[in-house]
Amino acid sequence: MQDSYNKVFENNRQWVEEMKSTNADFFKNLAEGQTPEFLYIGCSDSRVPAEDLMGLKPGEIFVHRNIANMVNNIDMNVNSVIEYAVSHLKVKHIVVCGHYGCGGINAAMQSTDLGLLNPWLRSIRDVYRMHQEELDAITDQHQKFDRLVELNVQEQCINVVKAAAVQKGFVQNGYPVVHGWVFDLKTGTLKDLNIDFEGILHHIQKIYDLTESTWSVPKMEK
Ligand SMILES: [Zn+2]
Repeated sequence: MQDSYNKVFENNRQWVEEMKSTNADFFKNLAEGQTPEFLYIGCSDSRVPAEDLMGLKPGEIFVHRNIANMVNNIDMNVNSVIEYAVSHLKVKHIVVCGHYGCGGINAAMQSTDLGLLNPWLRSIRDVYRMHQEELDAITDQHQKFDRLVELNVQEQCINVVKAAAVQKGFVQNGYPVVHGWVFDLKTGTLKDLNIDFEGILHHIQKIYDLTESTWSVPKMEK
């Protein structure tokens, strides 16, 4: 146990040397500030490291992770992250990244009392309820599990779009754009779900609009 703990600091020393060998000013530049183009909202799962799978370095992604990459409407944590990333860091892209084999999604498909986790998982059960017809029609359990992972990403993208900062940023600047991805643990590949961001914006605008804007298409009647 102590060995694995000590190894972290040895790893860190090696990493510092490695980064300096490619760019002597790497940490000097890092200390000067951040201008990441991406906000990444992903799962806490240890097998899904944001920077590694995107091939990006420190300073290039603003990251928020929780169980099953959820964007709950009253979660101050994720909502503060979104607000800061959009209003202050001016990120161009917001990514919600789920992953196949997600333990959080799997837990939400079971009839088990998991104590404190129940309210968190309930939001995933809500996603199942919203897409019950499609999911119930899938007889293969693995396929059903995979599809719920994808639909959960889609619904969390919609929750991101509900944020005032995201709507206002898009109306004023044309960004941030929201993307839904799924990471495949078995192959290491990222799949872009090609979420129709503008379509979602306009679809939910009647109910969730916070901009008092006419947007780029005629607004639906309220
Ligand atoms: Zn997960």
